[in-house]
Amino acid sequence: MKKYLWRFNFGCGRMGSLKGLFVATEKEVEDAIGQEAYFGEVLGKHSEIYGTIERDEIVKVELDSKTVEKVSKILGDTWSGYNPLHYVEEATGKECPACETNCCDDEWDCVTGMCYDCSEKEANDEN
Ligand SMILES: [Zn+2]
Repeated sequence: MKKYLWRFNFGCGRMGSLKGLFVATEKEVEDAIGQEAYFGEVLGKHSEIYGTIERDEIVKVELDSKTVEKVSKILGDTWSGYNPLHYVEEATGKECPACETNCCDDEWDCVTGMCYDCSEKEANDEN
């Protein structure tokens, strides 16, 4: 299967974003889209970056597969930054660890790793 170069740009609200250039087949990228990725504390202590990989966060770079293959022999599959394929977790849906409900993206706070309701509750409890 042909490999292509992909640009990854994963926004995580006010924490910033994760960027990367990586090599993968179209199928590998297709499989990763919609999956939950866990990056850990990559944007600083306690940042705990989670989230679903959205289609518009991975864009194919126009570079012919022969060139991609040649450079991959030297650099491997990750050319710079973050390769989302290394961070994808099994598709379990986003379950809030506090209230155990499954959340959609709108309900999910990727900074705290909980649903917004629980994040808010926790913030209020600290006051
Ligand atoms: Zn919750």
